[in-house]
Amino acid sequence: MRNLFVVLALCLGLLFAIHANAEPTLNRDLPPGLQIPDAARPGPNFDVDRATDAYINLLSPEQRAKSDAYFEGGYWLQLWNLLYGIGVSILLLASGWSRRMRETAQRISHRPWLYTAIYGVFWLLTMSVLSFPLSVYADFYREHQYGLATQSFGPWFLDQLKGLGVGLVILPFVLMAVYAAVRRAGQRWWVIAGGLSFVFSLFFSMLFPVFVAPLFNDYKPLPEGDVRTAVLSLAHANQIPTEHVEWFDASRQTTRISANVSGFAGTTRVNLNDNLMNKTSLPEIKAVMGHEMGHYVLNHSLRLTIYTSLLSLIGFWFINFSFGWAQARWGHRYGVEGLADPAGLPLVMVLFAVFSFVTTPVSNSIVRQAEAEADAFGLNAAREPNGFATSAMRLSTYRKIHPGHWEEIIFYDHPSGYERVHASMQWLKENQDNPTANAPLPVTAPTVTPAK
Ligand SMILES: [Zn+2]
Repeated sequence: MRNLFVVLALCLGLLFAIHANAEPTLNRDLPPGLQIPDAARPGPNFDVDRATDAYINLLSPEQRAKSDAYFEGGYWLQLWNLLYGIGVSILLLASGWSRRMRETAQRISHRPWLYTAIYGVFWLLTMSVLSFPLSVYADFYREHQYGLATQSFGPWFLDQLKGLGVGLVILPFVLMAVYAAVRRAGQRWWVIAGGLSFVFSLFFSMLFPVFVAPLFNDYKPLPEGDVRTAVLSLAHANQIPTEHVEWFDASRQTTRISANVSGFAGTTRVNLNDNLMNKTSLPEIKAVMGHEMGHYVLNHSLRLTIYTSLLSLIGFWFINFSFGWAQARWGHRYGVEGLADPAGLPLVMVLFAVFSFVTTPVSNSIVRQAEAEADAFGLNAAREPNGFATSAMRLSTYRKIHPGHWEEIIFYDHPSGYERVHASMQWLKENQDNPTANAPLPVTAPTVTPAK
């Protein structure tokens, strides 16, 4: 317990240091409104590569250097995250803390399902406290350093607490189910765990937009106007049965632009974030919504749930044999009695984290492929290649615009900005009569009342 207070004191110290150092950074956003460089105008000399380069050159060298630094720093952050998580888990095991948490849980109840759930609550609370310093650095300080975050510490911390609250509701059920599988199914537990991860992911993706997302942001119907008309028209033209178009105050947390189409059957809704509304033009909004509708029409959420559950299944199989090896070496020293003992959860998490780290290129490639499909769908649905190219350039404020081939395969869960602009210009080459590409500029942000 004394260690806990030392960690807390360190966190507070770090916090004050951060407040003292927080400084405003250069504005990295592209100007509002649609951007069409001369080389990206249709004409007899239209060249896909030249048009793409003209878009890429909209970024100043400083903007590009900063975006590269942010994104490449993220590669290292993945490694630090893994090592930090392993360190904290070993601390929990080697100090006997994990064993004592299980003993305390067993004093409260002797029923395995109940003490497993109680252990889960203890574990999540402890991990949240111990991981707090890294989370403050990665999710608060660094985001401010690069001008991507908008929240001061108080509201940010409150959001973290809400996230912890959601975790405390969900995790005990997940652990109860998986540990029950370990107790009942013996050596075949990992097959059932893979099935459970499919059911839980599907269930969570259904509950998320209705119960979780509104905890963090305000969702309001989008007022009548050009944007609402255009988005609904795009939805109806693509067999998306909805009249619900909402927007939410993402600018509370971030400067990033985004949108999504969520829900099933009667709960289907189209959500735009207010940064998208306030910084971009109608052709950009249509292009982004065409992409999001692509995810919906192509049934990506179900497909990705199936793929990631299959990957988790392999992860559980890996845990099944590697846990026995680790248990034989260290288990007795740490008071872990076997795979069915929740006191071994930190060890399970280390193994799972190593597995996820090693398979990151696989999971990224699975998602990136779906994103590329949605890109192609969106270009055909919205028919706004310059809108899509401009919004791809806006995303480059936090995503390196032109990575190497293998860098993209390993680290990117979306096509790079370069690939997206190139695909847009390829589409424009084949559709030279495109009205927006031939129309005069400027096309500026639509006027909307603030989402408050
Ligand atoms: Zn997408």
